[in-house]
Amino acid sequence: MIFDLDGVISDATHRQSYFTVDPPDWGSFFEAGALDPPLAAGLALARVVRTPIVILSARPAAVRDSTVEWLIDNEVPFDIVIVHPVGDTRSSADFKSDEVDALQRLGFRVMLAIDDDQRNIDMYRSKGIDALYVHSGYYELLDLP
Ligand SMILES: [Mg+2]
Repeated sequence: MIFDLDGVISDATHRQSYFTVDPPDWGSFFEAGALDPPLAAGLALARVVRTPIVILSARPAAVRDSTVEWLIDNEVPFDIVIVHPVGDTRSSADFKSDEVDALQRLGFRVMLAIDDDQRNIDMYRSKGIDALYVHSGYYELLDLP
């Protein structure tokens, strides 16, 4: 099962203010992810799942270590964490699509993907993967990548 992180398991609401500046402060936005409170429903779902869990997030590799620490601190079960590589300019949907292809080539059968970005939901469904949309509200407020 694939879980997005921001808006699904972690509550990034307090970080949305980094988009009110022009240009948006991406570095501070992602660094502040270490301070996210968990989202109760996403956390509960991850804890009851009995299949391998892939955290597939478009967070940049610069915050990979703090992201893994956050997952451990919040007792989020996970088997694989995949984040956006350094210098990667692919969109979130293109990045996640390529990672899903790679997982499937390795024999990973994706039973369900959960995300708060409709573009990612559409991508998963275009591959024949069941996808569950979670409404975080982030994408109505701002034009996030
Ligand atoms: Mg998200």
